[in-house]
Amino acid sequence: MMTVVTCIVEDHNIWLVLVAAFVCASGSWAVICLFERASRTAGLQRAGWHFLAAVAAGAAIWCTHFIAMLAYQPGAPVSLDPVLTMVSLLVAIGGAGCGFIVAASGLTRFAPVLGGASVGMAIAVMHYTGMLAYRVQGIITWDMGYLLTSIVLSVTLSAIAVELITRKPRRGYRSLSAGVFFLAIIVLHFTGMTAFKVTPLLVDNEFSNPAAMQALALAVASVALVIVGAGLASYMIDDSARTETLDQLRHLALSDSLTGLPNRSSFSSRLERKLDLANETGGQVALIGIDLNGFKEINDLHGHGAGDRVLQVLGDRMKNLLQDGEFIARTGGDEFTAIQRFVSYAGLEEFINRLRTALFEPVKGADFEFVTGGSLGVALYPDNATSAEALITNVDLAMYRAKAHISHNVCYYDQSTDDIVRARRGLAKDLREAFENNELDIHYQVQTVVATKRISGFEALLRWNHPVHGCMSPAEFIPLAEESGLILQLGEWVLREACADAASWKPPFKVAVNLSPAQFVHADLSKLIIEVLMSTGLPADRLELELTESAILQDKEGAFSVLRRIKALGVNIALDDFGTGYSSLDMLRSFPFDKIKLDRSFIHEAEDSLSAKSIIRAVMALGKSLGIPVLAEGIETEGQLTLLGDEGCDEVQGFLLGRPVPISQLVDSGMISLNGRDVRTVRTRRGDAVAEDAHTPEPARPTA
Ligand code: C2E
Ligand code: CA
Ligand code: CA
Repeated sequence: MMTVVTCIVEDHNIWLVLVAAFVCASGSWAVICLFERASRTAGLQRAGWHFLAAVAAGAAIWCTHFIAMLAYQPGAPVSLDPVLTMVSLLVAIGGAGCGFIVAASGLTRFAPVLGGASVGMAIAVMHYTGMLAYRVQGIITWDMGYLLTSIVLSVTLSAIAVELITRKPRRGYRSLSAGVFFLAIIVLHFTGMTAFKVTPLLVDNEFSNPAAMQALALAVASVALVIVGAGLASYMIDDSARTETLDQLRHLALSDSLTGLPNRSSFSSRLERKLDLANETGGQVALIGIDLNGFKEINDLHGHGAGDRVLQVLGDRMKNLLQDGEFIARTGGDEFTAIQRFVSYAGLEEFINRLRTALFEPVKGADFEFVTGGSLGVALYPDNATSAEALITNVDLAMYRAKAHISHNVCYYDQSTDDIVRARRGLAKDLREAFENNELDIHYQVQTVVATKRISGFEALLRWNHPVHGCMSPAEFIPLAEESGLILQLGEWVLREACADAASWKPPFKVAVNLSPAQFVHADLSKLIIEVLMSTGLPADRLELELTESAILQDKEGAFSVLRRIKALGVNIALDDFGTGYSSLDMLRSFPFDKIKLDRSFIHEAEDSLSAKSIIRAVMALGKSLGIPVLAEGIETEGQLTLLGDEGCDEVQGFLLGRPVPISQLVDSGMISLNGRDVRTVRTRRGDAVAEDAHTPEPARPTA
């Protein structure tokens, strides 16, 4: 070691040695960066980066050697063999290139070490080829010990450098690797030069021109730096292009393209971080769910362009109102979610007020102006929930409540209130599952002609036997199905099943099916009815549809036109629950209903209440004058039956005449037989989960 240092200090121009070291250091850095980039790419790109790495390595190795050689002062005139000098350069580039390709090949676990060793070997071969080109007027002797040491050191250090950059064992691996590679070149050169001894023969100074040598050295250094610089520049250009692309991709992945706000996935990670922070440092986090009011109408009535504009304007406003510790994301179509780390409730309220102001300010477009507003649900961490998931669910519940209230557009999570909503949602989910698993059933309640006591038909009533809550009334679960939209499928199923059942009845009684307002508004009802009648083979005049006034009132004209189409098929239309709704005479005049179903609440009070009795009388008179038969619902006693008969009621329905029962019981009681249809087949088809109506059936009075 000491000998090497003495050799450097005594036999070299120290300034040129420093220049060589600088070239070597910058070259090594470039080589390591370029090689690393090559290993992150594939195919042609990788070949390109390997080429650049090889050229940079060749330049660094060769120029270091060449400059350091010119720095060497042998004390005798020097000249260079041009061919060997060129060969040494090509050896450096080619050898390093091969080494890099092997190192990055991944052929064996040792590929990086082997490739690195090859690069080290290339450094050594380059050096000694260069030394062969070095012609000096003197006797040259080689110390084989130093010579071999130089080769071993170069091969080992180079292998370590490549192994380091490939395995990346710890931070700073790149500088470390570049440092080791620098040593591989420098150590080889100067140990090699220590092995090299010149005894000058004849001092003929005319051959030697130190100034020219120095100029040459500096020229070589400049060329080397240009090459290395070019390599590093391409690396940096690629790096920034890559960073830009990555930034763009990250932005795309984490933000919503319409509003530019963060999206749901970025919201989730932000929420986790805020909750972690609250756990570490204390403090509370408020989650605020925002659902725009009437956004669907804007989209439906004014087109998606207007809808998009509203979202953009509101998104911008909310983005601009944020302060430190606040965050907002678009988490759904017209849903936004805000997060605030807050210290005081006043601060939280102030934030909510800012949001409300932004939401309720009008949005102006080219040809519209809307005040959208929104419903806000708020839940607090850790007060209302101990996990992000629970917090989101609770915000949802609070928001759901806020949407239902017309007057409150902000609702805070409140366990007792929201538990009811939660239970309803659970039930709605159960209902969907029950429907999908074929666990619902239809029961039939007989309808009887008063004068003849004959059966006129049966009303189909939906049944659900809940595994926990038992037999549930459709009055409870139909509203759930209406809220969740399941009613469309459910209603279609009832219609289809009831028609199929009725088609097989002997005698051919009518079947009455209830229609929900939602079904009436959304589905193409007349088309569905035609299709069901065709597929089940039920004649149209044996089907009766029962609908309430509320179903018609939502869109009277639209409803009547659908009803007219259905009636034209021959299907009967009954007005259900008459007397409980608006009961406008106008309604009865506007459409030729086939039946009025007087609500059971009047019958219940008929025997004791004079006013109930007078309403019954009035409805009977109305029916007579309009020529529409009246059916009284909810007949439970003989007294009620007699009274209704006396008032001139046409048909009756109620527990006295028969409770709603499964189809098999209609068969068992002899009311009907099934034409070519086995009761058991019918039962299995429906799963027969529900055996009987909740109430025990009374024996049927009427005779067919
Ligand atoms: P609704 O259309 O008024 O049906 C008559 C209801 O009165 C039935 O209740 C029936 O069991 C009950 N009922 C019949 N006779 C008597 C009686 O003498 N006394 C008493 N207290 N009640 C009697 P249910 O089956 O619980 O159905 C409740 C409501 O659920 C129905 O009222 C109807 O609006 C709705 N619904 C039932 N099935 C369906 C369906 O498939 N689709 C739709 N959209 N709604 C249905
Ligand atoms: Ca009904
Ligand atoms: Ca009714």
